[in-house]
Amino acid sequence: MRPFECPNCRRLNHFEVRVCPGCSATLGYDPAIDGFRFLADGATVWRDGKGAVGAVAVCQNNNAYQICNWLVSAADSTPFCRACRHNRTIPDLTEPSVPMRWAKVEAAKRRLFHELIRLGAPLETKAQEVPGRQGLAFDFLYDPAAETLGHAQILTGHDSGVITLNLIEADDAARERVRILLGEPYRTLLGHFRHEVGHHFWSRLVGPDPDALAECRALFGDDTQDYDSALRTHYASGSSKVWTDDFVSFYATSHPWEDFAETFAHYLHIVDLLATARGFDLSIEPLPDSTDTNDVAIDFDPYLAPTTQLAAKMAPLSFAMNAINRSMGQNDLYPFHLSERVVAKLDFVNRLLAGARAQRPKALQPAG
Ligand SMILES: [Zn+2]
Ligand SMILES: [Zn+2]
Ligand SMILES: [Zn+2]
Repeated sequence: MRPFECPNCRRLNHFEVRVCPGCSATLGYDPAIDGFRFLADGATVWRDGKGAVGAVAVCQNNNAYQICNWLVSAADSTPFCRACRHNRTIPDLTEPSVPMRWAKVEAAKRRLFHELIRLGAPLETKAQEVPGRQGLAFDFLYDPAAETLGHAQILTGHDSGVITLNLIEADDAARERVRILLGEPYRTLLGHFRHEVGHHFWSRLVGPDPDALAECRALFGDDTQDYDSALRTHYASGSSKVWTDDFVSFYATSHPWEDFAETFAHYLHIVDLLATARGFDLSIEPLPDSTDTNDVAIDFDPYLAPTTQLAAKMAPLSFAMNAINRSMGQNDLYPFHLSERVVAKLDFVNRLLAGARAQRPKALQPAG
């Protein structure tokens, strides 16, 4: 995502900031303007920097737990922001390790929602659920057994629109141990959310639509094959299993539903990466004597761009970004390869979301 300007002093800030380091103004993110407002006039109003006062209030999760920097429209029927209103279960906050972990979880979830809102994805809560329009909810659970590697009792996953996250995933050491154990090149909270929400959008947009379902099966394979036994086989065969570049990750080979969720996550990764590059006006020019003719200038809106355009920019951009990470001794930023087949799958996700966006009433379309 792009950097966000403080509306009071114009300094650029990260999305998570609550107090501007430049002018000490209290900031709140307002999804309706996709920007920050600042608390003004003796902390009585939220101004946007252009003189306008917003009819907004701080998210209830900020008032109660200081855990959210989003604002809620006064016209909304809930005191929770567009990200927090989907929470069904919050963790037991009396456990000392929980508040810090939950804060990380919510920060990652807000990035997920920022992108879904920008993409115009349909977002219903469980209270708004009707047949064929599955609502989305989150259970964030503390699992004492998970403090010992391999003993977790709560599985992170998706079921009928409910995303369950074991809070241990917010512990860097524990999550990294699991990443290495499973041979994964990438494992983050944001990655979990982007993957699990992919399962939700399969049920929300693919399952109920016969045409989408037929095309999805042609691309990703027959999802009616037994899911539990497919996953058991996947974990039992380990790295001996064949992994062609028809799949964006090794885990995507386990079952067509996992392939879809992994691909959905990658669509969100790619759009956000390119939106960030565009927000900073980053560009890459090949060296004059290089045979590489791929230059990167993000002169289009990644949230609306065709997949071929996204993929063409990702190749040189991720190569450069990986090089930057390596120069700090870090793992590659984007340790994946977009084959032609993967791009075709990404294109399905892109068109699926574009179709959902086109069906929404004009007033709900994301701004610019
Ligand atoms: Zn400021
Ligand atoms: Zn909130
Ligand atoms: Zn999955």
